[in-house]
Amino acid sequence: MLSHNKVEIRADALRHNFSVCRRHAGGVDVLAMVKGDAYGHGMVDCARIFVQEGAAALGVAEVPEGIALREAGFSLPILVFAGIIPQTVAATLDYELTPIITDVAVVDKLAHEAEKRGRRVKVHIKMDAGMGRQGALPEEMITLVQKVEEASRLTLQGILAHFPMAEERNSDNSYMVLERFNRTIEEIRGCLSTNCHYHIANSGALFYLPDAKFDMVRPGLSLYGCYPDGKEGVESAEGEKLQPAMTFSTRIIQVRRLPEGSGLGYGQTTITTRPTTLAVLPVGYANGYLRRLSNRAQVLIRGRRAPVIGRISMNLTLVDITDIGEVAPGDEAVLLGRQGNQELTADDIAEWMDTISYEVLCLLGKMNERVFIR
Ligand SMILES: *Cc1c(COP(=O)(O)O)cnc(C)c1O
Repeated sequence: MLSHNKVEIRADALRHNFSVCRRHAGGVDVLAMVKGDAYGHGMVDCARIFVQEGAAALGVAEVPEGIALREAGFSLPILVFAGIIPQTVAATLDYELTPIITDVAVVDKLAHEAEKRGRRVKVHIKMDAGMGRQGALPEEMITLVQKVEEASRLTLQGILAHFPMAEERNSDNSYMVLERFNRTIEEIRGCLSTNCHYHIANSGALFYLPDAKFDMVRPGLSLYGCYPDGKEGVESAEGEKLQPAMTFSTRIIQVRRLPEGSGLGYGQTTITTRPTTLAVLPVGYANGYLRRLSNRAQVLIRGRRAPVIGRISMNLTLVDITDIGEVAPGDEAVLLGRQGNQELTADDIAEWMDTISYEVLCLLGKMNERVFIR
């Protein structure tokens, strides 16, 4: 029997979002980012939808995710974004994953293992164009590119970078990163023997930086139905809006009436100031519904918003339903998604949790039973 707590993923929303992204891409390839178990939505199920809709490649963080996709039967290019180290070379080759090289140190080993197998390996190189996280600096790129070009079994297929602030419209930072990327690839083009692809756009750049598409775009968050700039994105979206694909709901397990002056839950952080009706939900931080949401979040019951009251514990949450009317054990409570004409979005929860929608989706999606609705 399934838990009362249920994350549902709607395939039709994923399909819709992919097609919105594809239209924004304007004809260049779309790599679908499915890292983080597809942002908590289920990697293999989501990848299947995106591939059916025309994804040219898939993006994961680590080699084991790439292996899982190969074992599920995917044959298109799978880029491994966390990079490659000597320990992951063999599996990368065995499963024909596309490594992203961030450092010159691994090139010899990769070329050697490819030689041993008598195979060519396509690789991408990551440049640090201003993210300050991973990759080679612009001034180190020529050396790295030449090293890859000289390695007999390696084919340089792509050069990429990543934006740190693309969700912010008209940010000077994004123009600077784009400028650096452009300048460096101009220099690299001069010393390349083969045709190489360039890519830099995440969701933010796909929606807000039309000059950043190059040969491929790499949306993640937008495929799952959220805008990288949160509510502002939703409010200003022109034309077809993205549709959130994930909902999270549960069932009320007890309804209680407590007198004025009752302390609620661990730490007794709230004392009732009136006779209060509570709904008890079998959800807590073990479900990714973090303690930070205590006394801050709202849930939907009978199509109305009701506040979470008192501390959220590992498996239980209290909701004040005094103003909601007749509620019974077994009734549905929606923590993320729609009920009646009310909606709670991942951005709403992110605001209460002091974080971003990405983190909310990963937490809820990965810590609950998930049902994929085709
Ligand atoms: C996660 C990731 C993306 C996708 O970013 P979104 O903001 O979710 O669209 C693109 N490129 C790289 C390198 C990433 O790590």
